[in-house]
Amino acid sequence: MVRRNSHCLWCGEPILGKRAQQFCSPMCLALAYRDRMERKDRSRGEPPLPPRPTEQLPGTPGKVEVLAERFRKGQSLWHPQDAHFQPTAY
Ligand SMILES: [Zn+2]
Repeated sequence: MVRRNSHCLWCGEPILGKRAQQFCSPMCLALAYRDRMERKDRSRGEPPLPPRPTEQLPGTPGKVEVLAERFRKGQSLWHPQDAHFQPTAY
């Protein structure tokens, strides 16, 4: 029996062996939620960009760490020069 894998809506990482869920981790859920809030807040100004882009690709543990660090510092989660896949439409 083939079970259709789902993918994290935030980082796109396959969610394996878990009950149906939209995100691979609570971190992704938190980041996706924050991103949505930031989009709403664009008119009130954006958080500062992180000082450096990251080479970590989305879905890697390293990227999650980078995002978590930016989250803690109140920085924008994304840097324009981050290594990044094209975001999919929500
Ligand atoms: Zn994820």
